[in-house]
Amino acid sequence: MAHSVDLLRPGAREALAEGVKTRGRTPLLGLSKAQMAEAFAEAGIPAKQAKMRASQAYSFAYVHGHRDFAAMHTLGKDARAVLDNKFTLDRPEIVEEHVSSDGTIKWLFRFPSGGAGKPVEVETVYIPEDDRGTLCLSSQVGCTLTCTFCHTGTQRLVRNLTAGEILAQVMVARDHLGDFGKPAHERRVTNIVMMGMGEPLYNFENVRDALLIASDGEALGLSRRRITLSTSGVVPGIVKTGEEIGCGLAISLHATNDELRDELVPINRKYPIAELMQACRDYPGLSNAKRITFEYVMLKGINDSLQEAKELVRLLKGIPAKINLIPFNPWPGSTYECSDWEQIERFAQFVNDNGYASPIRTPRGRDILAACGQLKSESERLRASERKALEASAGQAAMATYPVAMATGHGE
Ligand code: SAH
Ligand code: SF4
Repeated sequence: MAHSVDLLRPGAREALAEGVKTRGRTPLLGLSKAQMAEAFAEAGIPAKQAKMRASQAYSFAYVHGHRDFAAMHTLGKDARAVLDNKFTLDRPEIVEEHVSSDGTIKWLFRFPSGGAGKPVEVETVYIPEDDRGTLCLSSQVGCTLTCTFCHTGTQRLVRNLTAGEILAQVMVARDHLGDFGKPAHERRVTNIVMMGMGEPLYNFENVRDALLIASDGEALGLSRRRITLSTSGVVPGIVKTGEEIGCGLAISLHATNDELRDELVPINRKYPIAELMQACRDYPGLSNAKRITFEYVMLKGINDSLQEAKELVRLLKGIPAKINLIPFNPWPGSTYECSDWEQIERFAQFVNDNGYASPIRTPRGRDILAACGQLKSESERLRASERKALEASAGQAAMATYPVAMATGHGE
């Protein structure tokens, strides 16, 4: 079996190893309460006070969304001055904001280079629905994996996002949607899905740390049942996700046999379907109330036959599962086509008849290109001509977009 190093493009390991360096004041976003206490003690706040100050700052930052330490009156002047000099609650720079006619919002964030040369850019998408508002977060800039139908897969990995950068995507959405200070039932961001750029399980610690703060009742307070992590099948990270994060799981399956999955989702060569299914069976807390979502992109003539629907049902036997059928979202240079609508419906019907909920994702945010491979960093932004072509096709075709198309419907 190939080692993971075979799956990394040149430079990816160096970018990962270098990590993120920040200048000047230390960002507090992304730090746990214990990490804040440690940082405060190091910054000169008397050790006896550091823990209490950390509790105050933790709630100040994450529950209330404040950004200015000067407003932390409970702190006392000296501690306030230390925090103000040494730490920051600044949000990342927003380079672009696009609002779709259907209410979907896409933000393009710029983060420091982290040693990777130029500043990096990632996208975050907010999808409002009647009963929920889902935020689709990125975990990496680019991706080391090379799934053949995914545009992000054509982009090399620039670097991992830090926990602070992952969490900042939620903080900014809350800022913009007016969620801070509101009770949970009035908030607009109710769900999080890790389905933007990148493979979250190749940035496990940072994703975990960010999601633990997002789900902490003393911080952002989102229920774990409303957070879903999507993986292409990094088997060793799956059970760990359940144990250390406790969120919902989505698996990008896309094929029912190893030969095809090796081609579509090349990490399958390292972790074949049987191992993947076993990791799913072992997922902590799995039950009919807490099912795994299996994502299946509908590729015309490739994986969309009724025979494959049958195999899919057989493969999932015994696993509490939901199936998300995702109409393929084309991008410039992609060699696949989306399955015909009738075929998607036939496939869905078969899966449904066999006892699996299998919603087909409806298109959202088409007019703002809030879609998979269209989530690009600065280094690989779409050329104007490509963007025009995509905008034209998005306007015409009855084509669903990812992640918007599939981000919905996860969690409670
Ligand atoms: N790397 C993770 C999460 C990000 S991708 C993963 O692969 O699961 C989120 C989902 O979008 C995955 O199911 C992925 O397979 C799917 N996807 C990628 N490109 C797509 C496209 N062009 N059309 C439809 N779905 C796509
Ligand atoms: Fe990476 Fe997921 Fe795209 Fe595969 S589908 S290349 S794992 S982002």
